[in-house]
Formats: sequence, structure tokens, C-alpha cells
Amino acid sequence: MGIQVKPGKILINNEWTESLSGKRFDVINPATEEKLTDCAEGDKKDIERAVLAARRAFESGAWKKMSARERGRILNRAAQLLEKHRHEIAELETLNNGKPISETLHVDLPLAIETFEYYSGLADKIHGETIPVNGPFLNYTLREPAGVVGQIIPWNFPLLMAAWKLGPALATGCTVVLKPAEQTPLSALRLGELLIEAGLPAGVLNIVTGFGPTAGAALAQHMDVDKVAFTGSTGVGKMVMKMASETNLKRVSLELGGKAPNIIFADSDLDAAVNGALRGIFFNQGEVCCAGSRLFVEKSVHDEFLSKLKTKAEKLVVGNPLDPKTQMGAQVSEEQFKKILSYVEQGKKEGAKVITGGTPAQNKGYFIKPTVLEGVTNQMTVAREEIFGPVVCALSFTNTEDLIHQANDTIYGLSAGIWTRDIGKAHRFAKEVKAGTVWINCYNQFDAASPFGGFKQSGFGRELGEHALELYTQVKSVWVSLD
Ligand code: NAP
Ligand code: MG
Repeated sequence: MGIQVKPGKILINNEWTESLSGKRFDVINPATEEKLTDCAEGDKKDIERAVLAARRAFESGAWKKMSARERGRILNRAAQLLEKHRHEIAELETLNNGKPISETLHVDLPLAIETFEYYSGLADKIHGETIPVNGPFLNYTLREPAGVVGQIIPWNFPLLMAAWKLGPALATGCTVVLKPAEQTPLSALRLGELLIEAGLPAGVLNIVTGFGPTAGAALAQHMDVDKVAFTGSTGVGKMVMKMASETNLKRVSLELGGKAPNIIFADSDLDAAVNGALRGIFFNQGEVCCAGSRLFVEKSVHDEFLSKLKTKAEKLVVGNPLDPKTQMGAQVSEEQFKKILSYVEQGKKEGAKVITGGTPAQNKGYFIKPTVLEGVTNQMTVAREEIFGPVVCALSFTNTEDLIHQANDTIYGLSAGIWTRDIGKAHRFAKEVKAGTVWINCYNQFDAASPFGGFKQSGFGRELGEHALELYTQVKSVWVSLD
């Protein structure tokens, strides 16, 4: 295996160290169920060290007072280094996460690179405003970095989530302690190496690998962390918010789960919609927070649509993630694999019919067949809870008045899709649906410049685009007497 996993150590102050406890944990390849490597298991004490390093780096001014253009150049060099090592990092990500190499190479890597490019360009365009106030005063605002930032990320897009978090935080002049998911720490460590090579001063980025309830919680609770940005489950997101509020009231932003409606009207281009539904749920093995997991199909085309969807789902190539022809790889872990299969059973119990899939795809590795559940109602567990796997729940509708109510009848609000040739209907839906992203006649489109985030229990705060700068800056109002 040609992967270069640097020592699997913790990064503090631009140095790679073991955890203070000396403990390590195994990192598994979900496609083979075999151990890939191991990593330092950081805990509260290591978070202490990392936050101290980040605080010193922030207060020293080595980063925030560096010219913004120079900060941008460093981020741009990081993008170039990612590009240079694209193949190696894609392979590393595939080995660790189980997702197909065609996706890591053509989706995760390009989007991560773009994210650094985008924020490298924005670094020197962050500024305040002058405000016409009453009286003989000059009033202006300064947009200052939030300070020391804690970032906790999930395992479904390990490198990309690190990029979404680090790009804007570093561009604004914040310093960071990053905790990757325990299942997938490797690409974030490699990214850390590249950022150092790109010229990041010591202490600006610290990476503590380890577990959520220990390292993650210590970061969310830390009295000297100014802001915590979290991506993961809604349950843990609520805990992070509680920990922040019970300690120093650090600012919080949350990117949480989803249960997106993807709505197919009879007047849509049906073949395009089938492909969109397929991409909407089976991309990244369904381990996507904005997956189109509730598929509402208009009754008059329901049977034809599902039959086409079934045929295409059965043609998807599931298997060895390193094979360039593979379209769906392994679920990230045994836990996730079992959870998904138990949701399928729950669906059957509540009256849904499995028209394809629903079982493991191979004897070894955490592979699940692309699964379509028919006859789902919005009240079933499978329609209410996030499955986070390659399982689409098909619901049929006739009454379009009731449709928006059903689409919004969920605790989540991350994304939504609609397929129709009627532009009025599409834009009305875009306005009425409670979701942070709406895709019309497309699905799962992303761009570093376009904001992403949730309504309702899918969280708050917007990542990507200029909006993400708000997460990592604070505004200061300055008054000057002109008398
Ligand atoms: P999770 O437990 O919420 O994990 C996410 C991150 O939080 C991991 O780094 C995890 O560390 C950490 N964590 C866990 N417990 C913690 C605690 N008590 N305090 C602080 N940090 C803690 O998520 P999961 O169950 O592994 O992943 C699946 C879920 O993530 C899905 O349900 C999906 O909704 C959500 N997700 C959402 C998005 C989004 O963009 N909105 C993206 C991806 C995933 P460990 O890995 O060490 O436990
Ligand atoms: Mg977890």
C-alpha cells in the first residue's frame, strides 16, 4: 500500500507528538474490516496543550497580524499542495472511509482544493464599514477574528469537512484546534502536514485525534476556546451547545443531520429525475447529511419512476472502493452498517416494501446494496429518522397542496430537491420549503462560493461562501468624535 500516513500523531505547535496518556486507537479499512494503522488517542490533557498552543499563536499575532494577503498566499499554497498530492490523498481517504476512489478523486479532492483556493482569495477582502451616524462622529466597524476556534468534524467527508472548517477560520486569522472523527483521522493529519509545508506558523493549526466524549467534549467545554464549530449528529450537536452554554458561552455553529424531501412531479424530465434521485441517495453510500432520503413521487408516474429507479439502482457497481469503476463503496463502520440494516427491518415492520436491496452486498466489508423502500408514509420511523445509508424511502403523492406541509413535516431542514418543468411551481417550492439549500432539477451540487447549512434541527450558521466568514469573525464598532 503506497500510502504515507505520517506517524498518526497529534499535531501541536507544528510538532507531531504522542498523546500524554500514550494510548493509541486502531483505524480500520471498512472495505476489508482490517486494521489500516493506529493513531494517538488524545484526551482532555492533550486538548489543554493544543488550546494553549492555539491561544499563544493567536495572541502573539503571528497569524492575525500577518498581512491578510500573505495569509491568503499560504492557503493558496495549501491548495496547490493538495493538488500535487491529489492521488495519494484520494487513496488515503478511500482506504479510511470506504468511499469509491472515483468520488474521492473527482469530488472530495477538487472541492477541498477549491475551498482553500476560494478562502485564499477572500482573506484580504474581509473588512468593516463606515456608518452614517447622527452627530459629529465618525463611526466605523472592524471585523476581527473570533479567536481560538474548536472544530469537531464527522467521518463522511473527512478531508472536505476539514477544508470547509479550516478555510474560512484560517482566512480570518483565527487559530484552530481540530478534532477529526475517530473513524477517519488520516486525511486531516495529512492536510495538517501540507498546511505546515505551505507556511502556517506554529500553533495556528493543532489537530487532536481521539474520541468525542473525551477530546471532543473537552474542546466544547474549554474555557479558553472562543468558538466551536461542529458537524455531526443532531444529538451530539445539542450536547456541544449545552457544553458551550454551561462553560464560557463560546459561540457555536452547528451542521447537523437531515431528512431531505426530493420531490418528483409528473411534469419533470423523468429520466433526469431518476438519475437525480439515484445520485441524491446513493452518492457517498448515502452517508450524506443532505441526502434526498424522502423521495416524494407524484402518483401518476409513481410506478414507472420506481421501476426505472430499481433497474438503475441494481446496475450500480458496489464493491472494492479502490477500483475506478466502483460507484458505491463500503459504509464507514460496522456500527453504521448495522444501524442501516436495522432501519430497513424497522421499515418492513411498519409496512414499507423493499423493492430492491436491503441486505449486505458482500461477505466481507461493510457493503450494503442500494436499497429502495416503497409505500413509505411520512410517519414511519424510516421517514422521520436519519438513516445515513443507501436507503431511499419512496412516498407517493397526489395532493400538491398538502405536499409542502409533508415536505416540511420533519425536525430537519438542511436541503430539498424538486423536479418539474414548471418554473413557477419550482420557485414557489424553493420559497416555501424550510431548508438551507434547494436544488431544482439537480441534486447534491456544491461550490465553495455557495452557502451551506441548516434550518430547524439541522443546525445554524452557514458554511462556505462569504457567509462562513461570519462564523469566524466578530464585529467591533468604533466611535471617533469629530469635534
Ligand atoms: P457524531 O457522533 O455526532 O460525531 C461527529 C463528531 O462529534 C465526531 O468527531 C465525534 O467524535 C464527535 N463527538 C461525539 N461525541 C461527542 C461529545 N460528547 N462531545 C463532543 N464531540 C463529540 O456523529 P456520528 O454518529 O459519528 O455520525 C453520523 C451523524 O452525523 C449522522 O447522523 C449525520 O446526521 C451527521 N452528519 C451531519 C453532517 C452535516 O453536514 N450536517 C455531516 C456529516 C454527518 P468521535 O468520532 O470520536 O465519536
Ligand atoms: Mg460518533
